[in-house]
Amino acid sequence: MGYEFYKVEPPPGVSFEDWMSWKWQYRNSLSTAEQFQQYMELSEDQVLAFEKARASFNIRVTPYYAALAGGSDPVPGIQRILMPDLKELSLGAQQMLDPLGENKNRPTERIVHRYPDRVLFMVTDFCSVYCRYCTRKHFTGKDQAFPSKDEYTRALDYIANHSEIREVILSGGDPLTLGDARLEKVLSDVQQIPHVDLVRIGSRIPTVAPMRISEELVNIFRRNKPVYFMAHFNHPREITQESAHALELLVDNGVPVFNQMVLLNGVNNHPALVYALSRRLLSLRVKPYYMFQVDPSEGTDHLRTSIEQSESIQKSLWGKASGLAMPNLSLDIPDGGGKAPLYPDFEIHRTQHSRTYTGWDGVTAEYINPAKETLIKPDDVSFYENETPS
Ligand code: SF4
Repeated sequence: MGYEFYKVEPPPGVSFEDWMSWKWQYRNSLSTAEQFQQYMELSEDQVLAFEKARASFNIRVTPYYAALAGGSDPVPGIQRILMPDLKELSLGAQQMLDPLGENKNRPTERIVHRYPDRVLFMVTDFCSVYCRYCTRKHFTGKDQAFPSKDEYTRALDYIANHSEIREVILSGGDPLTLGDARLEKVLSDVQQIPHVDLVRIGSRIPTVAPMRISEELVNIFRRNKPVYFMAHFNHPREITQESAHALELLVDNGVPVFNQMVLLNGVNNHPALVYALSRRLLSLRVKPYYMFQVDPSEGTDHLRTSIEQSESIQKSLWGKASGLAMPNLSLDIPDGGGKAPLYPDFEIHRTQHSRTYTGWDGVTAEYINPAKETLIKPDDVSFYENETPS
């Protein structure tokens, strides 16, 4: 039972010990065309893109992820995620520096407060890979790293002073590029705020540097529970032996793991790839959670799919994939409008009391509403509505 996951081999001359050290991976991150060429072939245009595209968005990848995308068995689709492209410089159908409207929802430097019960705490702008489709190009990869002492205090004060905040999402950049001691300090400072129920960590580390997930790290999560982990795998090949081990370490230690993927043109925009990714994740006890439409961030037009194509991928999976395997297709309304879920429409007729549907395999039937409904009285919910954890 199970999958035979791909093994990413170190290049000649790199010891296994170095390869499996996340600090070595960070120290030896690739940034220039010459360094990328040690792992994959580049065309003249691609070499030129390194010169031209860097000014608008930083370039960096771990040797591990470069070897996964290139090496002896290259995956051109995954290379599109990490490789700058001259198309980033052309004007797209729509492009915005801040498509999620985060800057107008930033009450203090490192906090984004868009939804009432949760905030984003941007603890670093540094990532181990600069994904070419990144939605946060206005912040990510600008060498700002960890917040200053004052910025950090203002962020914690903001959370402490807003009792409606129940979830804090550590993001960036990638929070797992912080060292263990610093990460534990952030987690414990946030978890000490009485009305915070849980911390979520959004990280691409299990995909691009899975050796970062260690016993020491999961012990930090256990000491500061509950921590939920939002992984970010886009392609079934990204689930390697190393990343499978990292995910199992998290789950075995009581950290719930969800996956948020992005539907990317020329990378994973095919139902078979989405399904294969979902099955692999589920086999490792990771729930495929979201399948996002690429935001119209600057320079990403060539990586975006049309809404129609995304919906058709989702519809073709609807009957085949179980509810567990099905990620929710969702689009962020540009300029900070929040999430809009996209569902296949099976309804073919409606009356005042009923609706008629044709399901994924052609079965048509009517659902008739009950004759009478009982509404919950306001007094029966007031305790829950006014609840503030302490
Ligand atoms: S890891 Fe996340 S924040 Fe960093 S570049 Fe990729 S998508 Fe953007």
